[in-house]
Amino acid sequence: MDSVSQANFVHRTNSDGSMDSICSKCAITIASSPWEAELERAEKTHECDPERLRYLYSPDNLISAGKPSQPSPKQRRTAKF
Ligand SMILES: [Zn+2]
Repeated sequence: MDSVSQANFVHRTNSDGSMDSICSKCAITIASSPWEAELERAEKTHECDPERLRYLYSPDNLISAGKPSQPSPKQRRTAKF
């Protein structure tokens, strides 16, 4: 992983033809516009809210999101590095 926290943005086309730009890291819609250039401009200035990231990626939150609290032994994966 890169030490620089660079977010990726997903573009979603709405039924009215406009597009949403969604930050894949903090999962918020940062801009909505019919022009891609507008989205790109918003993406350049977007910074993820560290408080939100901490909430999204906190272990407590992951457990409450419907995952079993005890991992099954069968689900053990070998880590490859
Ligand atoms: Zn973000």
